[in-house]
Amino acid sequence: MFSHIGKKIKVLAWCIFVLIVIAGVVLGAILSNEENEILPFFILSFCGVILGWFNSFLLYSYGELVDCNQKQVQQNAQMIALLSKAAPSPAGAENATQAASTVWFCTACGTRHTDSSLSQCLQCGETRGV
Ligand SMILES: [Zn+2]
Repeated sequence: MFSHIGKKIKVLAWCIFVLIVIAGVVLGAILSNEENEILPFFILSFCGVILGWFNSFLLYSYGELVDCNQKQVQQNAQMIALLSKAAPSPAGAENATQAASTVWFCTACGTRHTDSSLSQCLQCGETRGV
């Protein structure tokens, strides 16, 4: 329901934009029918596009931020997981093997955990991978 929320926010921004443009065109058509003039139709249609655009780009940019942040978090978790496997601890081989057995990183949010008995991430609740 709330997964990929950034993409959903962007789709919502598009839907709101389209609805405002349609509302402007319909309102313009009704007014120009009553007044028997074509000018209100063009003015309200134009205002609908401008208003819809201004109204949507804040929401769309927020969705873009959320989307990028989610990708960043996943990439960071992957990098941390790779680094924790590849790089030995500078404190010595004994510490490195001990650290490798107790320290683990969440694959979803990248949080470092030192308790090896945990089966879930304390930060986000993601189930611990092997
Ligand atoms: Zn987590």
